[in-house]
Amino acid sequence: MKQTVVPLPTNGFQNEFHCTFCNTSHGLPADEAKNHARHLQATLNRERQLDYSLPVEKRTSALSTKPLFGDERGKMFGILVCLAQNGCQVILKAFSGQYGGHWLIDGWAPPLFGVESFQLLNVPKEKEIKELGTRMECLDDSDPEKEHLRVRRRQLSRQLMGEIHDLYSLCNFRGQRLPLKQVFIGRGGIPSGTGDCCAPKLLNLAAKKKLRPVSLTEFYWGRANRSATREHGAFYEPCREKCHPILGYMLCGLDEQPRPTGSSQ
Ligand SMILES: [Zn+2]
Ligand SMILES: [Zn+2]
Repeated sequence: MKQTVVPLPTNGFQNEFHCTFCNTSHGLPADEAKNHARHLQATLNRERQLDYSLPVEKRTSALSTKPLFGDERGKMFGILVCLAQNGCQVILKAFSGQYGGHWLIDGWAPPLFGVESFQLLNVPKEKEIKELGTRMECLDDSDPEKEHLRVRRRQLSRQLMGEIHDLYSLCNFRGQRLPLKQVFIGRGGIPSGTGDCCAPKLLNLAAKKKLRPVSLTEFYWGRANRSATREHGAFYEPCREKCHPILGYMLCGLDEQPRPTGSSQ
């Protein structure tokens, strides 16, 4: 893929993402966020729960980190260091996708869509898709009805993915709020799960809260993924397939914001 990135001197960005609005690239350094991420790693090691801020008796078993080390394998987590308008530091944290069936967990960045609208759309459609699968299982491979159902199921899945993408809206630091389909600049279709990674969740939340991001990192926690490209505790840059095509837009406007007073460079 063609890289239009021209690294700016002395900013120490690990990553730069192309922005079609400015026709340049935007980025954030990772070092400061890594320090806070190590702190979060120590907490996860100790508490083994995502709802560790609650008293032990109020914690939910679905938010245990145990499944990350078993068959489900690990997950990406992210930290965004921000400055509030008064110059105070604010640390945002995120998990990628859903956690133990939860999109919303107190203290963690929410998804880029309204969870209620998502459920209203997804639950009945998923059921329909599953039912088609069950009907297919009962049919012989030579039965033309089976192929008919297969085509129908594929259509429904594709349609559902498009409708789910319509629920995502992305804020940036220029004060824009746009649907995912207008933001995504990658080639081909929008991959499933785009917008569910830590970086977009964190930046969207910061933009909504009028915070100014200064450092971003993501790390993997749990048993290595099947392809062994992710290792427990290691830091990674935002993914190329889903995040690169949206992060240029999401970081847009940051370069023009004055740093809040009292911040250290
Ligand atoms: Zn990603
Ligand atoms: Zn821009």
